[in-house]
Amino acid sequence: MTAPTSDAVATFRHFIAGQWCDSTSGVTFESVNPADTRDVVGRFQQGTAADAAMAIKAAETAFPMWRRTPAPKRGEILYAFGQLMAEHKERLARAMTREMGKVLAEARGDVQEGIDIAFLMAGEGRRMFGDTVPSELPDKWAMSIRQPIGIAGIITPWNFPMAIPCWKMMPALVTGNTVVFKPASDTPHCATLLVELMAEAGFPAGVVNLVTGGGGEVGDAIVGGPDVAVISFTGSSATGKGIAEKAGRRLKRLSLELGGKNGVVVLGDADLDLATDGILWSAFGTTGQRCTACSRVIVDRSITDALLERLEARARTLRLGSGLDETIDVGPLINAAAVDKVAGYVDIGRGEGELVLGGGRADGDGLEHGHFFEPTVFAGVRPMDRIGQEEIFGPVLSVIPVDGYDEAMLALNQTRYGLSSSIYTRDVNVAFRAMRDFETGIVYVNAGTTGAETHLPFGGWKETGNGHREAGRVALDTYTEWKSIYVDFSGRLQRAQIDNQ
Ligand code: NDP
Repeated sequence: MTAPTSDAVATFRHFIAGQWCDSTSGVTFESVNPADTRDVVGRFQQGTAADAAMAIKAAETAFPMWRRTPAPKRGEILYAFGQLMAEHKERLARAMTREMGKVLAEARGDVQEGIDIAFLMAGEGRRMFGDTVPSELPDKWAMSIRQPIGIAGIITPWNFPMAIPCWKMMPALVTGNTVVFKPASDTPHCATLLVELMAEAGFPAGVVNLVTGGGGEVGDAIVGGPDVAVISFTGSSATGKGIAEKAGRRLKRLSLELGGKNGVVVLGDADLDLATDGILWSAFGTTGQRCTACSRVIVDRSITDALLERLEARARTLRLGSGLDETIDVGPLINAAAVDKVAGYVDIGRGEGELVLGGGRADGDGLEHGHFFEPTVFAGVRPMDRIGQEEIFGPVLSVIPVDGYDEAMLALNQTRYGLSSSIYTRDVNVAFRAMRDFETGIVYVNAGTTGAETHLPFGGWKETGNGHREAGRVALDTYTEWKSIYVDFSGRLQRAQIDNQ
């Protein structure tokens, strides 16, 4: 366990080569509760490039031992970690809500995703299948196996502060890579709690290393580190593009999960109450700060008023406050900059659509010390309006009226992102058309845009990513090299493509 100092506010440390240690900077930063910024969660090391270099060295030293540890044994440690997370689920969820604001039920879901991926990837320790195939030549054996790449640099955002690090670290580790983990500066406590449990689960020293601190310093040093072979990054498109350029210069393996502008299509025959439930959950859950959040409702003109009426009436009843109170529906935004960004988009939206709900900072009773923003709905938005195109990452929903499926499908696809989408219809033929036509990595039928399960691939098309997928068995592709192995037991020279023609 980390050893806090005697302050009322605990100070936490990096975890490098199996030791909790201070930064070479001698400087710490605070993480605060976004629902009440007077509540300081802890002090964390302001990491430096030198700290990152030490963590990379530790990961490099541990790699030969870890890659030779039998994969089923590695899987057992993942399993132990999953069990520890399950045992500590409530504590982890409460710490998450306190540090980043999502309501407790959702924080429990975030922890559960971590548990699920730990168990799924623990099983890969005994699967991790390659192919054994017939050779085209007699007396020759042909097979392919996965091997680890080396050191994995893991850089994560604050919005799923336990699920996303687990989605990345579990496949990296089970396949025999070692890890240097840099969490978002808004959620270092969540990261520290995870790594404490990883140490307890039995990952050997140097296999998992944690360095907190700024992206521009620690993250940049990891991306630029010549010995870091693979980078897995989830965050904003702007940061992701910068990382891609830097990693590309060294031809590093790179998995990017970036922004989204997810849409729900509601056709004239839809069950409007069901659609309202799904839209509210997808638009205002996690205060709209999910990469899969619905920020566009593309609705058939014939039912626009009926849907808007329902959305407005239901959204009005959502209760804002600290997510630690189980009666609260919507927590705060992550920080003051996020409130400014959302307010800026609301100003833009006033010139584009019709504001029908919300639109302001929420600072009523009990909210005055937090970063709260009202659930906001704009009607009459056009597909190419800025609020219909740009990722706002807050509780702002644009309602875009269209005529029929074809127009809805065009509007849905008319964005540079492609993470998640959904359609509400009772017509099975139209549902199948949507499954075929929507240009997103995830398509839902008669449900909102959120709620991915860990045994299926997760990721987006177009500028949401660079073609890699997290979760599911395909996650192993990010962290492994394929090796094709031929054994010729004929005792003579045999030439493929030549001697068998
Ligand atoms: P950011 O891009 O700001 O930050 C993400 C991470 O990158 C943080 O750890 C950050 O560190 C780090 N970072 C910042 N600058 C650099 C740099 N130059 N080099 C290396 N690392 C750097 O994103 P947010 O944290 O604001 O996350 C929100 C974004 O994440 C949204 O756009 C959302 O759509 C996206 N997201 C995508 C998902 C997907 O699967 N497609 C899932 C979840 C979120 P620091 O915190 O210290 O700045």
